[in-house]
Amino acid sequence: MIVVMKPGCTPADVQHVVDLVRQLGLRDHVIVGTDRTVIAAIGDKRTVDKGAIESAPMVDRVVPILAPYKVASREVKREPSVIRIGPSGAEIGGRKIGVIAGPCSVESEEQILTTARAVRAAGAIGLRGGAFKPRTNPYAFQGLGESGLKLLAAAREQTGLAVVTEVMSIDQVDLVAEYADVLQIGARNMQNFNLLRAVGACEKPVLLKRGMVASLEEFLLAAEYIINAGNPHVILCERGIRTCEEYVRNTLALAVVPAVKRESHLPILVDPSHGTGHAYMVPAMCKAAIAAGADGIIVEVHPDPQHALTDGAQSITHDTFAQTMQELAAVAHAVGRSI
Ligand code: PEP
Ligand code: MN
Repeated sequence: MIVVMKPGCTPADVQHVVDLVRQLGLRDHVIVGTDRTVIAAIGDKRTVDKGAIESAPMVDRVVPILAPYKVASREVKREPSVIRIGPSGAEIGGRKIGVIAGPCSVESEEQILTTARAVRAAGAIGLRGGAFKPRTNPYAFQGLGESGLKLLAAAREQTGLAVVTEVMSIDQVDLVAEYADVLQIGARNMQNFNLLRAVGACEKPVLLKRGMVASLEEFLLAAEYIINAGNPHVILCERGIRTCEEYVRNTLALAVVPAVKRESHLPILVDPSHGTGHAYMVPAMCKAAIAAGADGIIVEVHPDPQHALTDGAQSITHDTFAQTMQELAAVAHAVGRSI
């Protein structure tokens, strides 16, 4: 970390910080600039409480250099992690782009089975669909619960697709893990640390969605919780963040993709459905995500979006999905990957 001193600090103030740095077991390197003096503290300071230095006289701020996340970071693991999902062991994070598609919520047997067949035929490797839904409005459709999980399992049986579905609370983890191939942690739960630990104690891969006001660092630290609890199979997912914009439901922060690739070995998917809120934007943002280096897409697809019980406005039809998959193949090829 770098300790930035306030203008006008004395040599004694600097020496005091140097002594503190040495007491913490770090090496010091003092750089006297024209208007600022900074002290670089060198060594593994990730376990050091920087607050101790921050409260010293004439210290302006302490800037960490090494990332606080460890097991999720590229510093610790240079090669990208490849996560295998579902009965076929399809890969996410390798050269192939992984596409997970399906409705926002499981609504009925017909809805989920027709969608599963359609997305499978178009080249998806996973089927999404919420059985337990985190709804802002308590009077809105809350999901089918366990019967929805059973319908997802039946769809897997028929298609071989990996089932990706949300787990909202610790008490649901065992039940959801019994049916799902990938446990989804929703944006609203990204910092539910006890839930992160609970899915970290499972063997099933986890799809961790970025919180709607979470920084990249907070996102990776959430992944760190899961990995630290014993589950290294974490797939990140950018799903849009809250901004001042009103023409979109959320702002899809695609720049996080190259940033994650630089900082972490974990694969990252993009969710252009929640990331925009509008079906007409979804195909374009799917292509942009792959062009930006994402390892795949998770997208909402519904047989009849106008009558969807949840998120119809952002759900694309089976036909639009099939068309988008063809276009994605061309984009994937252009960036040295395949679908
Ligand atoms: C979902 O995937 O349906 C969902 C609720 O997503 P998020 O947690 O990103 O809002
Ligand atoms: Mn949704």
